[in-house]
Amino acid sequence: MSSEAVQTDVVVIGGGPAGSTVSTLLAQQGVKVTLFERETFPRFHIGESLIPETYWVLKRLNMLPKMQASHFVKKHSVQFVNSAGRESAPFYFWDNKPHECSQTWQVVRGEFDQMMLDNAREHGVDAREGVRVHEVLFEGDRAVGVRIKGDDGAFQEVRAKVVVDASGQNGLLMNKLNLRLWDPILNKGAIWTYYRGAYRDTGRDEGATLVIQTANKKGWFWYIPQHDDVVSVGVVAPFDYIFKGRTNYATTYEEEVANCPGVKERVAKAERIAGYFATKDYSYRSKQVAGDGWVLVGDAFGFLDPLYSSGVLLALKSGEQAADAIVDGLERGDTSAAQLGRWGAAFNAGVDRMRRLVCEYYDGFSFGAMIRQYPEMRGTLTDLLIGDLFDDRVDKVWAPLESLYKDGKKPIPTWDAGQPASEAADKANELVLPEGARPDL
Ligand SMILES: Cc1cc2nc3c(=O)[nH]c(=O)nc-3n(C[C@H](O)[C@H](O)[C@H](O)COP(=O)(O)OP(=O)(O)OC[C@H]3O[C@@H](n4cnc5c(N)ncnc54)[C@H](O)[C@@H]3O)c2cc1C
Repeated sequence: MSSEAVQTDVVVIGGGPAGSTVSTLLAQQGVKVTLFERETFPRFHIGESLIPETYWVLKRLNMLPKMQASHFVKKHSVQFVNSAGRESAPFYFWDNKPHECSQTWQVVRGEFDQMMLDNAREHGVDAREGVRVHEVLFEGDRAVGVRIKGDDGAFQEVRAKVVVDASGQNGLLMNKLNLRLWDPILNKGAIWTYYRGAYRDTGRDEGATLVIQTANKKGWFWYIPQHDDVVSVGVVAPFDYIFKGRTNYATTYEEEVANCPGVKERVAKAERIAGYFATKDYSYRSKQVAGDGWVLVGDAFGFLDPLYSSGVLLALKSGEQAADAIVDGLERGDTSAAQLGRWGAAFNAGVDRMRRLVCEYYDGFSFGAMIRQYPEMRGTLTDLLIGDLFDDRVDKVWAPLESLYKDGKKPIPTWDAGQPASEAADKANELVLPEGARPDL
């Protein structure tokens, strides 16, 4: 690339699921897209369990045949195990919606993200790896492009009609414009590793995600079976509990396994094949989804606690909504904040539904108890678990759920009651990779 400014229609920052989605859908509709990804793929990423509503976006992306031909484990259900080891009946997606979309996948993100980015290229996206975007360029309040480091090591300007920030938790624009609000209550940390030869169910349960509460109820484990007989097993708990006053990640993790019989038994005969990964995962959202000439998608817009594996779905959905708004805007010569962010309010309402279910679980909500009392609610709860979040039809679940509240339960504060990042210098999400991380992740 020469040091002359280059012009494109849309610049996308980041080649994760959100960036690949928005850019593929734009290219499909004839828009010239240049995507910059600072890493060289495949690179490690957490977020391995998909949920069924990803199907519809994967379909538009022409990714379904690739997913169906892949070695990723097929996932048909999710199941909850409480602190006493009692298992809920599995929530089988097919029983609620007998359609191909009810089967989803447990992926290895290094491979999945590479497939998505290659697919973007096949659709005509100019995707460049190993290129970091240093800043978004503004003229007044309008984004007009980005500054990258070109092949010759010199800084280079790339001008665009629209800049899409898909930079993940880095949140390039969110930070620059001071838009990040930390969630007032979802302040967790996670530690995880990988095993070979751990317990696996069989048949349609083989690929189920298990959510297993620890005995002291302070945290929960994800148990995600992957291909090659690998299982991803991670503990999530309040930040202060899991990271403050503890020795190190390895010891904390093993203490939590010991405190969770459902996990201890399942990994007892397995070989641990990786070190211990850790991350702070405070939930957050941006105060704004778009401005003149810019729009945020995926984690660059918001991150919700991983309890129900909704992150990739929200990345795909926001990427899809942003792409359609951009295509329409470019056709009409309108790249204003209102046009590019026209989908933001409905999207936020969907995220709020998932967030409420997350917060209720942390406040003592039991799926098993709810189904025993209100069996007719199984379908609606399953709708929420598959990610069918953008329709108020599912809101009928809240009144029965509230009827199970214990006396004195406090109302859940809304996400925007949280602290702006500028006032919370102690908070930042960061990933710590172990030495000897599996090279194929
Ligand atoms: C502990 C934990 C468990 C999770 N479990 C699940 C799960 O089971 N299922 C699920 O669906 N989700 C899960 N998630 C969430 C999921 O990881 C994210 O929501 C998802 O990866 C978001 O995709 P994205 O494309 O927005 O961001 P990312 O996947 O993070 O992609 C952003 C990309 O931008 C690149 N980038 C950053 N800055 C720049 C720059 N300046 N220039 C160029 N490139 C840049 C990065 O290298 C990266 O490749 C989990 C998250 C955590 C923390």
